[in-house]
Amino acid sequence: MNLLIRNGTVVSSRGERFENVLVKDGVIWSVGLNVSCDDAKVIDATGCLVLPGGIDPHTHMELPQMGTVSSDTFTTGSIAALCGGTTTIIDFANQIRGESLRETIVRSLGQAKNKTHCDYAFHVAITDGSESSLRDIEWLMTEHGVTSFKTFLAYEALMLTEQQFRAVLRLVGKAHGIVTLHAEVGAIIKKNIAEALASGNCSPRFHRATHSVEAEAQATMLGLQWAAEEGCPLYVVHVSNAQAMQHILDAKMKGQKVFAETCPQYLLLDESLYEQDFDEAKKFVMSPPLRSAADRAMLWSALANDSVDTVGTDHCPFLLSQKDAGRNNFCKIPNGAPGIEERMSLLYSEGVAKGGMTLAQFRNVTSTRAAEIFGLAPKKGDVAVGGDADLVVFDPNCRWRILAKKQHMNVDYSCYEGYEVCGKTRDVVLRGNVVVRDGNPVLNKPLGQYLKRRIFS
Ligand SMILES: [Zn+2]
Repeated sequence: MNLLIRNGTVVSSRGERFENVLVKDGVIWSVGLNVSCDDAKVIDATGCLVLPGGIDPHTHMELPQMGTVSSDTFTTGSIAALCGGTTTIIDFANQIRGESLRETIVRSLGQAKNKTHCDYAFHVAITDGSESSLRDIEWLMTEHGVTSFKTFLAYEALMLTEQQFRAVLRLVGKAHGIVTLHAEVGAIIKKNIAEALASGNCSPRFHRATHSVEAEAQATMLGLQWAAEEGCPLYVVHVSNAQAMQHILDAKMKGQKVFAETCPQYLLLDESLYEQDFDEAKKFVMSPPLRSAADRAMLWSALANDSVDTVGTDHCPFLLSQKDAGRNNFCKIPNGAPGIEERMSLLYSEGVAKGGMTLAQFRNVTSTRAAEIFGLAPKKGDVAVGGDADLVVFDPNCRWRILAKKQHMNVDYSCYEGYEVCGKTRDVVLRGNVVVRDGNPVLNKPLGQYLKRRIFS
């Protein structure tokens, strides 16, 4: 069926223009002022922006952690994604030590298949750095289009040694992939935690204190240095503070292939939230933790001068009852918070509407750059002829209030409860299918497809 979106302002890599978009067979057929079609279903986008479908490069559906599992399934999380204007997620296939990377991807594909309502891909997180494990990297790239690999320098069950991390960089670089890094130095955090607990400091504020700026900044610096030496592009996930961002800016200045992701929570919230009672503070326990107001300001300025490449969410929700596991010890609070549904609205409201970023920058960090970096372009990430018809009709003037009881994410709180925001996703099209209408999901069978990705170029 043909679909015509008319009278909207199309936000694409060609700029912002008042034009119509015609969709045929799931792809964008033509875009222009005079484009029309007699036998098309019509969406009137008067007063609205027509954006490329959002791409969230950092989500964790059904993630096992600390003896529990993140509360959004691929089904609930992907419906929430669509309602918030995100049509593609890149989730994580986390290797469980003892299993091969082949087993990891097969298990993860099985988990998401026939359940996911938006399109999806996986970064593969390598937690076993042995030679035999790393042998499958090339196979993952050619067979499954997995072109990005996540690494950790912290957390016992996840971290690689320097030698293993360098080996990953070398192999992935040679195969024209990209390595992503969770930048925290495990030894620093471990020492801080031991000291805090020995002093009886068990409340959530010590989650922040132990996961220090120093731990993040140092891992960022080391990761950049090693990536440069091994010849591999590096993407630093969830940059939360000014020092780490400064290391990335310096590397960019030198011409290194490095990319920075931050998240709405590091732009909008800060560490003062940990000074509340346990029942409030627990909501914000995530790694890295929320930082200072000065860090926030620096991240906004990095966004404004195009130094931040993407704004992902690190969406990893846990119910309040799951968070209670750490009532007597902050180390036992599952790490993570919800955010996939509000990403576009929050960033539009706090960024574009308040004058801190342009529409082009908004498009870049919510969609275009992720598509380019992770090999989803030119099908995804733009409103361009020949691309997948993933489109968002976004009402920039709609004012609304964020309330947990109204969200689609399977979690019983919001980090932004009561926030009044300006800008809301109205209709969403996934490869030509209307999947959200007037803010409500149109529930059919899950239409999400697994996306094989191109190599890094
Ligand atoms: Zn994450």
